[in-house]
Amino acid sequence: MQSQSPSIFEWPYTDIIARFNSGDRSWRETSEPIFWDQLGSVPPACSHGDAFAVGEAWTHSEDGPIHAVFCVVEGRFFCRLVPLVTFDPPAFQSQIRKQFHLDDSDPVFTCAECRQEKSQDVIVLHDGKITCEDCFIECLNKGASYKA
Ligand SMILES: [Zn+2]
Repeated sequence: MQSQSPSIFEWPYTDIIARFNSGDRSWRETSEPIFWDQLGSVPPACSHGDAFAVGEAWTHSEDGPIHAVFCVVEGRFFCRLVPLVTFDPPAFQSQIRKQFHLDDSDPVFTCAECRQEKSQDVIVLHDGKITCEDCFIECLNKGASYKA
């Protein structure tokens, strides 16, 4: 694993090759100019939606040709080396969302009462506590006042 995040403005290949060779299947963030440079340098091997595989294979393996894949998520640019047979943009996007915490669902918060992580709408009690809906109702039943 990388101990530091490399600059997105660096040429990414040294890094993604090192990751691939060490069995690290994580995505690396890169910059928009590199994305367009790689999209335009040779016709892509395949492209779909916001992802494409660079036209020339980087190497060949028992899984077939390995290509650099670039993918856009939330206006950010990512790449890694991928066996071409596993080219799957929706899967790539969900891997990237998970790795870079780009999940666009409701932000998670920790309920001040039950200490569980919840993604429901937050409700602020009068003393500034943020609780989940269940605990909020419980507090109301115990006579707490609130402002939403
Ligand atoms: Zn709670």
